[in-house]
Amino acid sequence: MENWELIIIGAGAAGLAAGIYGARSGLKTLIIDEKLAGGTAADAPSVENYPGFPQITGGELAQNMVLHCKKVGVTIHEIESVTGLNLTGERKIVKTNRAEYEAKAIIIATGSHYRKIGVKGEKEFHGRGVSYCGVCDGPFFKGKRVLVIGGGNSAATTTLYLSGIAAEVVVTHRRDAFRAEEALVKDIASKENVKVFWNTEVKEIKGEKLVNKVVVYHNKADETKEVAVDAVFVQIGEAPNSQIAREAGLEVDDHGYIKTDVFQRTSVAGVYAAGDVTTHPVKQIGTAVGQGITAALEAYAVIRRPYYRK
Ligand code: NAP
Repeated sequence: MENWELIIIGAGAAGLAAGIYGARSGLKTLIIDEKLAGGTAADAPSVENYPGFPQITGGELAQNMVLHCKKVGVTIHEIESVTGLNLTGERKIVKTNRAEYEAKAIIIATGSHYRKIGVKGEKEFHGRGVSYCGVCDGPFFKGKRVLVIGGGNSAATTTLYLSGIAAEVVVTHRRDAFRAEEALVKDIASKENVKVFWNTEVKEIKGEKLVNKVVVYHNKADETKEVAVDAVFVQIGEAPNSQIAREAGLEVDDHGYIKTDVFQRTSVAGVYAAGDVTTHPVKQIGTAVGQGITAALEAYAVIRRPYYRK
């Protein structure tokens, strides 16, 4: 069994920030991610609110964090899935599809996944016109008519990104106002090739081999119609990736987010959580980074008992 001082599960913004602080504090630090490092921030078309970077793509920002981690000595295992955790003893055990590891402290930074809309056609056309990531799939729809579902920051940033690629972007939102931040809403209003269908719900996604239309319902006029589109980008929020943590006995709230205190401590000693998987009410790259840092420094303080914690 491999021995580490700190194991971080998840290589998104929270996990990578924790890695940098863990390694720089002198802890032998491993980050494990079932995908490539970067997390959901890497899917952001454009990040314009991360301090110090007036505009950067999510991919570039995430890549910088990965390089920073490697520079300070963090080991990152990508495409390795955690299959189970045993957190009851003083030494924490992490089992993956490749190996078994032991650590003095664990930080869970497994983030969240895109929520599904749950309508007919969504599953059938996933990868054939239905997407959850504008940056990943938007370029396939150059010059086409695409649809974005949602009214939050994800829907707004994806709409703006797609407006530079597609001929037309239709946004359907179930209410009559966006919940996205003001600057993004203003940008959307200034785009000539963006059309917003308010009070509108997508009821079905149709097509043959690929998506070619959606059935929409106007919930004020009580009217249903079909709209021709080549792609549907579902951007309706997220749900936590907390299954492994829940199975290991960590306390979560009613929605499955891991409960933490101000030091990012979970209900189990020696186990911390950071980023979008936690109950923290703000889901931003900046807050995820802050939580990751707090978790790593707290883990360090408990493991090494520095002068200020004696
Ligand atoms: P969100 O803020 O929770 O917004 C989800 C949107 O989807 C809401 O407008 C909601 O409608 C709509 N929605 C939810 N379920 C739906 C359903 N079943 N059918 C139709 N519409 C549905 O989620 P998000 O936009 O993914 O953002 C998640 C977090 O990441 C937020 O904290 C956000 O601030 C953050 N984020 C920030 C940025 C940034 O640039 N600052 C970018 C992306 C994400 P209602 O409005 O009616 O509830």
